[in-house]
Amino acid sequence: MPHLPAMDPWLWSRTLAETYAAGLDPQGVGRAQRDARLRRLLAAAAEGSPLYRERLLGRAGGAAPTTLDGVEPVSKAELMQRFDDWATDRAITLAGAADFVADPARLADAYLGRYLVWTSSGTTGQPGIFVQDEASLAAFDALDLLRFQGHGPAALPGMAFMPGQRYAYVAAIEGHFAGVASIERLDRIGASMAPAFWPALAWMRPAVQTFSVLQPLPQLLAQLEAFAPTILISYPSSADLIAQAVAEGRAALRLREVWVGGEQLSAEQRAHITRVFDCRIRNNYGASEFYSIAWECPQGRMHLNDDWVIVEPVDRDDRPVPPGEASHAVLLTNLANRTQPLLRYRLSDSLRFLPQGCACGSGFPAVEVQGRADDTLTLHNHEGHACRLLPLALMTVIEEGAQLTQFQLLANGVHELELRLEAGVGDPAAAFARAQGALTEYLAQEGLHNVRVVHGCEPPRCHPRSGKLSRVVAAG
Ligand SMILES: [Zn+2]
Repeated sequence: MPHLPAMDPWLWSRTLAETYAAGLDPQGVGRAQRDARLRRLLAAAAEGSPLYRERLLGRAGGAAPTTLDGVEPVSKAELMQRFDDWATDRAITLAGAADFVADPARLADAYLGRYLVWTSSGTTGQPGIFVQDEASLAAFDALDLLRFQGHGPAALPGMAFMPGQRYAYVAAIEGHFAGVASIERLDRIGASMAPAFWPALAWMRPAVQTFSVLQPLPQLLAQLEAFAPTILISYPSSADLIAQAVAEGRAALRLREVWVGGEQLSAEQRAHITRVFDCRIRNNYGASEFYSIAWECPQGRMHLNDDWVIVEPVDRDDRPVPPGEASHAVLLTNLANRTQPLLRYRLSDSLRFLPQGCACGSGFPAVEVQGRADDTLTLHNHEGHACRLLPLALMTVIEEGAQLTQFQLLANGVHELELRLEAGVGDPAAAFARAQGALTEYLAQEGLHNVRVVHGCEPPRCHPRSGKLSRVVAAG
């Protein structure tokens, strides 16, 4: 039996009870919980983390702040550079954590005997390593159990993983990423509990299987058909691609729900996926830095779990943006994790608080999120047949295969990809050669031997439609 991260039943039940109470009264109980958690987090960070001690107390020393006022924002690059000074558990080191995540076989195992560790896929420039302690895992579980079905005032506990359902998780699974690590952990918990408590009910254990989005589509479709999921969990772009295949009769899937996250869900994608599968689609907003930032209510609006996470919309200079206005970035504070604290951590998403609230009646703030917007690329093989490539698959190929994160990939027509590198990439020629090798191999696997990969000398450009600096940009 693999070693699971720590899960104290008392802490877990208390977290569930607190989260339930906050759901009944987000503005009162929820706010009070949030403020108390923030004070404890600031005190723990100032006491146990050398990096935050410096930032929160200054060189002169003094008392830890009790609010975020005046707390300097921090970036992933800064935290990764000073990784060994970051955690309040001083046994957590970059060497140890990097060594742990370098072994794919240790996915969802306990790091240092108690933590879950995952990496961000580096799509914001540089991969990060995030260590989840027992308190943050309990918070994610509580949010899953209590809020996933909606944020209404009377939301009842509804299992995120329902007995008897078949879950297909289609994503980048070749690494310790937040999604696949969480799925694997939940599946292991199910496996460890089922025989102990209800051997006769083992059939009720939800079936969960992960599928790589990096493999050629026909192969993925065949695997999905064989598994016959009732729930598909994926990125909007790949769920859309699968829906397209089903609409064209290239695969037969009967789904009860589609859960998407990790990318912007466009109105067209939502309409298409819903039409093809004739089922409910649930959109969520999370990040490696906090897995369950916001979920969609039945009105189709995102509501922030602001009893567990603080997000502050800010402009280019980290100044607050008023409600109703879209931000340039957000500053995220994870209230659950006091082991590897995140205080005013800069995320490059654009977010807008909706001042008018939401018709569903939830007391959790309604927000609109503009996450990453990358394009699905359409390329042609030598016979002229179109083949669509997912942005997250292409990014993973470059990041993992070439260890390169500062790039932009553009489609020039249907037979050529142009890779542009950001200023600051050490040896551009060597970096390009590595990326070209990884991409060429991936393209060949997709039957696109004819597609050329060229080195673009200009710097990355903003997306023609969103104006954002996307990593993968379609032709035109
Ligand atoms: Zn709502």
